[in-house]
Amino acid sequence: MNNLAEQGMASNIVGMEEYPEDTPPLIEDFSQYLPKSLPPADLILAVGLSGDINMIVPMVAQKTGAQSVIIPIYGPKQMPPGLQQEIIDSAPDVTIVFPKPFCSLEPVGDAPIDEFASRFGKPVLFIKADGFIKKVEVLRGAPCGSTNYIAKGLWSTPSGEAELASAHKLHNYPCNASTDTDPAVGDTSLHLASYQIKEAVKRGLGFAVKTAVVDHSICKPEDCQKECLESCPQVLIGLDTITLNQEEKAVVDPATCGYCEICIKECPLNAITIETGKFKLD
Ligand code: SF4
Ligand code: SF4
Repeated sequence: MNNLAEQGMASNIVGMEEYPEDTPPLIEDFSQYLPKSLPPADLILAVGLSGDINMIVPMVAQKTGAQSVIIPIYGPKQMPPGLQQEIIDSAPDVTIVFPKPFCSLEPVGDAPIDEFASRFGKPVLFIKADGFIKKVEVLRGAPCGSTNYIAKGLWSTPSGEAELASAHKLHNYPCNASTDTDPAVGDTSLHLASYQIKEAVKRGLGFAVKTAVVDHSICKPEDCQKECLESCPQVLIGLDTITLNQEEKAVVDPATCGYCEICIKECPLNAITIETGKFKLD
């Protein structure tokens, strides 16, 4: 919230409620947790609530008249299986999104969420470079402020090293994302966060330096269950990191590949390898 306020959003925040980290995992009476003051609002951000307490979010939306809610997911313990659907079912008229993590948020076709996501969410950078990074402008930054921190640190970095440097710098920032593996995506939220900032650098420079590559002489979709697609964490959070071409063979997008190597382990035909070089982006 500090970063949002510092980035000029202070006048848009009509109310804020903080909860202790040790709210009970199972709550019977949610009314005691409802904020006393609930001014009219367009958008509810529920950040860092863990377990059952998340169920108050649709109630808050209803009482404030908000039709739009963002509940970022930072780790597997925060939102036990089933709770996400319970929250959606409890407020069928409200648009609720669960970006995993917050810095993967992109517009979804809902006006208040999209207005927020035009400034905060999945990082977008404008980069000027001539072999070394000369200028980095944050066009959209992670809500936690990490993108501004990383952008400042990239100045004068060799262009070919900026992609990996951005991920290292994220690890030096107090990122909220968990280091626990999320069984729903097979990777940690912290890794997912690093894939988003690396993508921003790659797109800013127009090339990637490392990516998974599928050997189409080996890839035989008729002999597999498309395990690569089923296991890629980026695909599992909604990105087109692996797609199938006209022959149904897998194709990896270097812009969004985080080179986690999960697809390499899962492909039964060993058709995928990690390669380094200079991969121009489409
Ligand atoms: S890369 Fe491997 S898992 Fe993916 S479609 Fe090809 S053979 Fe199947
Ligand atoms: S290495 Fe494979 S599984 Fe990992 S992000 Fe890249 S395409 Fe997806």
